[in-house]
Amino acid sequence: MNLITIDGPAGSGKGTIARILSDRLHLNYLDSGAIYRVIALFLNRNHIPNDEEQLIKQKIKDLNIVFLKTKVTLNNDDVTEEIRSEKIAKTASHISSLKSVRASILDLQRSYFQPPGLVAEGRDMGTVVFPEANKKFFLTASTEERAARRYKQLISKGFDVNIHDLVSEIQERDDRDINRKISPLVPASDAHQIDTTFLSPDEVVNAILQKI
Ligand code: C5P
Repeated sequence: MNLITIDGPAGSGKGTIARILSDRLHLNYLDSGAIYRVIALFLNRNHIPNDEEQLIKQKIKDLNIVFLKTKVTLNNDDVTEEIRSEKIAKTASHISSLKSVRASILDLQRSYFQPPGLVAEGRDMGTVVFPEANKKFFLTASTEERAARRYKQLISKGFDVNIHDLVSEIQERDDRDINRKISPLVPASDAHQIDTTFLSPDEVVNAILQKI
């Protein structure tokens, strides 16, 4: 069964690329960041602080998170658009450094590896969640290019954002993701690295298909 992982920082293009690849190869698709975002949304809605690890761990047990290709639900409530804000991304990045949060969603993430196979994207897909993957990719791009992509994405979804704030938010989030103790954002030793700064989505997909 095909198992392809795509990791990289915010705005590196992994979401777009993973979706296209999963369509072309007729594989299931997992956006692991969406799971952290749904938990973040739940905590924000319920005014639970980011650092209440024990409480968060308990609450996660009762959450029903369903991730489909085009829709994400939390306890049957469609939260697809709401989880995309930078505010939620920031909370997601904070709680994703908690050991028990990462441990408690491991099984959920692994449950998406089903026939006919999976394209999984995130920060630790190739290193921790699916170390056995047969093809691993790590996408990068300059901070300015990543912020510009996020800007376009967020504006098209109707969010009110400022490009300068986005650059600093992305840098802050990268620093936290790279420097955390558990499952930091690092390429797996056997990952192919692709700099997408000057590449179109099609060019990245073609580069990946060639390796596969
Ligand atoms: O990819 P996305 O921007 O949706 O991820 C939101 C946050 O979730 C990231 O900044 C990161 O802190 C966290 N995350 C993670 N591990 C993953 C996916 C996302 O820590 N596999």
